Amino acid sequence: MQITETRISLVNRPNSRLRAYASVTFDDVFVVRDIRIIEGKKGLFVAMPSKKMQRNCPQCGFKNAVTNRFCGSCGTKLNPVEKKEEMRTAPSQQHRDLAHPIKTEFRDYIQEKVIEEYKKKETTEKK
Ligand SMILES: [Zn+2]
Repeated sequence: MQITETRISLVNRPNSRLRAYASVTFDDVFVVRDIRIIEGKKGLFVAMPSKKMQRNCPQCGFKNAVTNRFCGSCGTKLNPVEKKEEMRTAPSQQHRDLAHPIKTEFRDYIQEKVIEEYKKKETTEKK
């Protein structure tokens, strides 16, 4: 599988490590959007699109982030027992990848390509 197109949209947010979003096309037939380019401590890296884990309010059914203590819609205190359990989950597990490469080599390939395109875009837009 090859990347046939990469589109980058730069993000200019102070105090944010997010540098850009990428949408990547594979073999001209499959697109993955919302890939994030993040400035990490060791340099740029690519994060796959993910979904915030949510739970439903027992009162009104509103979808709350797992870390919420009160329902964002009706204000009901969310079950503390359940909360304790979920607080043990690492922050990384509060998000679940929607699509991601299985093989390390392919992850590296995507990362390389996306960062290369990001750098190109960054240079042209700064001129
Ligand atoms: Zn509620």
